[in-house]
Amino acid sequence: MIIIMLGAPGTGKGTVAGLLEGKLGYKQVSTGDIFRKNIQEGTELGKLADSYISKGNLVPDDVTIKIVQDRLNQPDVQNGIILDGFPRTVAQAEALDNILANKGKKIDMVLNLTTPEEEIIERIVSRRVCPNPQCKTVYNVVMNPPKKEGICDKCGNELVQRKDDNEETIKSRIATYMEQTSPLVEYYKNQGVLRTEEVSQKINRLGKDVANDIERDIKNQK
Ligand code: AMP
Repeated sequence: MIIIMLGAPGTGKGTVAGLLEGKLGYKQVSTGDIFRKNIQEGTELGKLADSYISKGNLVPDDVTIKIVQDRLNQPDVQNGIILDGFPRTVAQAEALDNILANKGKKIDMVLNLTTPEEEIIERIVSRRVCPNPQCKTVYNVVMNPPKKEGICDKCGNELVQRKDDNEETIKSRIATYMEQTSPLVEYYKNQGVLRTEEVSQKINRLGKDVANDIERDIKNQK
């Protein structure tokens, strides 16, 4: 099973992907997390990625595609994968189609999350994340705070705010999404694999509600 998470920053891709990994056992692979780990470790890839991420721009396609191509060869994703944050350009989507075709695999579902822009900005500036790679729980200091301020409920790690989660960078991340990533909605609609879900406080529909519905539908298909 191959699931792709699509959607602007702050729509809840990581949250839904993490919940689905727990429910369905498919591996969540986030290109953003791979870049952040490299930035933290000070690798060459990290230095390169940081120069784009800190400005709200995309890391170049050739670099990103190579990372995902290598990741798709690893044994832990053979049963199923939830790609969280990839592809983000038409060139990446085409490359992914080729990589999968060579393996005799195909995309089963592209889950396109939508959220009103004002909610996105609010949500991103209030977002805090657990930096423990085994946990990665996402909190919101207003809507979904941890029990003890600044501490992850699940693993006790100190929560952090992502460097690119500030109002200035968010605006350019949203613009980048509109220009470079949103054409993928049409791309995958044409492939007949798109499923669009609104995640919004306004309609009282959160990431966990979407994840529950997807879990139910996938289990019913089997
Ligand atoms: P995310 O954690 O998915 O919000 O990603 C954080 C940042 O990493 C993005 O704003 C991009 O700068 C970069 N990034 C993540 N995935 C990709 C991708 N597929 N292509 C290019 N850049 C990416």
